[in-house]
Amino acid sequence: MARLSSERLKALDTAHHLHPFTDYKALGEEGSRIITEADGIYIQDAEGNRMLDAMAGLWCVNLGYGRQELVDAATAQLQQLPYYNNFFKTTHPPAVELAETLCRLAPKHMNRVFFTGSGSEANDTVVRMVRHYWALKGKPEKQWIIARENAYHGSTLAGMSLGGMAAMHGQGGPAVPAITHVRQPYWFTEGRDMSPDAFGQACADAIEERILELGEDKVAAFIAEPVQGAGGAIIPPQSYWPAVKKMLAKYDILLVADEVICGFGRLGEWFGSEHYGLEPDLMPVAKGLSSGYLPIGGVLVGDRVAQTLIEDGGEFFHGFTYSGHPTCAAVALKNLQLMEAEGVVEHVRDEVGPYLAQRWKELEQHPLVGEARSLGLIGALEIVADKAAGKRFDKTLGVGNLCRDICFDTGLVMRSVGDTMVISPPLVITKAQIDELVGLATAALDETARRLQ
Ligand code: PLP
Repeated sequence: MARLSSERLKALDTAHHLHPFTDYKALGEEGSRIITEADGIYIQDAEGNRMLDAMAGLWCVNLGYGRQELVDAATAQLQQLPYYNNFFKTTHPPAVELAETLCRLAPKHMNRVFFTGSGSEANDTVVRMVRHYWALKGKPEKQWIIARENAYHGSTLAGMSLGGMAAMHGQGGPAVPAITHVRQPYWFTEGRDMSPDAFGQACADAIEERILELGEDKVAAFIAEPVQGAGGAIIPPQSYWPAVKKMLAKYDILLVADEVICGFGRLGEWFGSEHYGLEPDLMPVAKGLSSGYLPIGGVLVGDRVAQTLIEDGGEFFHGFTYSGHPTCAAVALKNLQLMEAEGVVEHVRDEVGPYLAQRWKELEQHPLVGEARSLGLIGALEIVADKAAGKRFDKTLGVGNLCRDICFDTGLVMRSVGDTMVISPPLVITKAQIDELVGLATAALDETARRLQ
């Protein structure tokens, strides 16, 4: 089949394609960047420009692009059994083997998984599961779920409702009831009048205040990412998670650790919860589960919740056509097997995570950078107008987006969240490639500074 020219593709895209998270009018004026191929940690567009993908797609291509083993796993499964479901007492080998492997890799109190097609569906499942759980425990009034401002938990109605992004809540009508949001542990933008630890404690105290306002017997769960990704790679102060953990135990509230980004090695452990010593009751996962090669997600369920669902729950009236899809499950299984065989988590924890921390911190010397932070292979740069005061540029200048566009032209994919530049590269990145990434980021920052003069 003849390939369409990139001009033709752009015209058809503008004419017919409504992209996610996109201003359609602006896109129509500028046209899309068409990505045509990828290999390792690099992507290439239709004009032949090669870019280091420091976002691993959308925080997901953990093993990098072009892994033939994943292609082969998909091909073999498509030939043998392309589709069958897990409803009504049926299953198939890839779903079973993936469930066993996931539960073996998860914290040891998590021995069950419910499969979904995405992270959003996983979080919808979480909402139904936690409320169902408390009803089964004879406490149906435990309905409220506490989440955080500026959190992202997906784009389905429940995912959006758990999320704390004001712009999303401003569209599409009412959210799912009985979900409330508390302040996020974002020290750089919200806490610099205190020490990081005092701020972390204050953010944990805000959860307790909300519990008491709502009534402690009415709160079902608290949901948060170990490190907040889409909000701006927000690494909480050291004091935050121990204080939160203690308080949830005090009021008997379930902990849901959204591992959609942090899971599968991003923070240098299989799950971000392990880095912080958390023992979540539920862990939604997706993205890195299949390195993004095929869509699959799930909710890992701790023994306490699973036992009640199994022993007392009867039929759980919930499921998706693609829950545990055999081809997606086969690719996810192969992905996890490759990660284990190649020691990818150890590579992040012992090699490239510490190396990125060292090289990334050097960017704090740049006149535009107020803070450079990273943990494992997630990191952020805070772009500021005044370093000493940590003062941001006027919002209308759109400095983050300017820097992001310059990055593209420089050969680097970084994401802008306001004026915060975020990275989350493939976990297979090497030290030499980190040097390349830091060099490209420096060049992009220099050019951004020059344009702002
Ligand atoms: N949870 C978190 C923490 C995410 O970052 C995302 C996506 O970015 C989701 C949930 C939603 O996942 P999906 O886009 O697969 O529905």
